[in-house]
Amino acid sequence: MKIIKHIPFNQSSLQGRELEYSSKAIKSGQIGGDQYFSKKCQNLLESVLRIPKALVTTSCTHALEMAAILLDIQPGDEVIVPSFTFVSTANAFVLRGATPIFIDVRKDTLNLDESLLGSIITEKTKAIVPVHYAGVACEMNVIQKIAERHGIAIIEDNAHGLFGKSNGQWLGSFGNLSTLSFHETKNITCGEGGALLINDHNLIERAEVIREKGTNRSKFSRGEIQKYSWVDLGSSYVMSDLLAAYLYGHLEVWEKIQLARKNLWNRYHVGLNDWSITHSALQPTVPPHCEQAWHMYYLILPTPEFRDRLIIHLKKCSITAVFHYLPLENTPFGKSFDQADCPNSNDLSKRLIRLPFYTNMSTEDQNKVIDSILNFEC
Ligand SMILES: *Cc1c(COP(=O)(O)O)cnc(C)c1O
Repeated sequence: MKIIKHIPFNQSSLQGRELEYSSKAIKSGQIGGDQYFSKKCQNLLESVLRIPKALVTTSCTHALEMAAILLDIQPGDEVIVPSFTFVSTANAFVLRGATPIFIDVRKDTLNLDESLLGSIITEKTKAIVPVHYAGVACEMNVIQKIAERHGIAIIEDNAHGLFGKSNGQWLGSFGNLSTLSFHETKNITCGEGGALLINDHNLIERAEVIREKGTNRSKFSRGEIQKYSWVDLGSSYVMSDLLAAYLYGHLEVWEKIQLARKNLWNRYHVGLNDWSITHSALQPTVPPHCEQAWHMYYLILPTPEFRDRLIIHLKKCSITAVFHYLPLENTPFGKSFDQADCPNSNDLSKRLIRLPFYTNMSTEDQNKVIDSILNFEC
């Protein structure tokens, strides 16, 4: 019997000096937070993205929770989040008692539709949380103007968009606050991890406190105070330096990782172009002012049945391809917020397929995915 090699949807891989750095961290005897490698990661993010402050955290979810605490989100507040996103984008604010207001997405980029903001913003709106879907930027200039006019904060959930740009400006540098994910499914990873990027100088000191269980321990560690104490709300959001060591192994070769992913993305795009045209499938749209972050490759099939059959067909070929977000307002918990449907999110969510996409994917494996789609009898 011929053994067919399985092609996973995602897998992490060594890209540089992760093993060396992890072992250095272990041998140093300093694997708590805010040690050598955490500082290296933060300095790199700050200097490449040209932002005032980066703090590595236990996850992107936790960085979003920090953002909600930092902005004093309260019961009764409204926070605008795309319908088509991961649950954490909304949950972090719901945890503070806020109501998530789900906004529909654009048909082309699947990013929140900025033209709907005007009709959704109320006196209670405290924040907008744009998600740069697949690492392609939201219309940040428009969103910024609207937010400024209404005095509303912007928190970029930049889990997909690290090292992407819009009009030449780095994603993550637009919002008052931004969050990153280093979960194993993301471009740059340490298994589980994240970061809070702080573009507003006034929020830096309190962010350090919230991240350190509500204490001013960061000041103490820098020798700025004699002892540290409980000064505010907070929780345990600090990343272990052992994970930061692995993370730095990835981060310092970010350009190599992004280039490998760019090549993979382009091979899918070219390889599936004719097929997409003849089968009325849509390939991703990347507006000309966006330099995307090469986070994923997806297709929008003409019908939900077509999408579901293609997933089953690929499974038979030993290839894992997956759907993505379910519209949040239609999830069991999301329904409790009793909001109108978001038609584009609903429609696209049923027709979208994500193809296997990971930095060390071989050309042979990618060809197999492409060929399996070309051979699909639909
Ligand atoms: C992955 C992801 C998150 C959560 O990241 P974690 O680091 O796993 O907490 C949040 N938002 C979006 C859009 C994501 O894709």
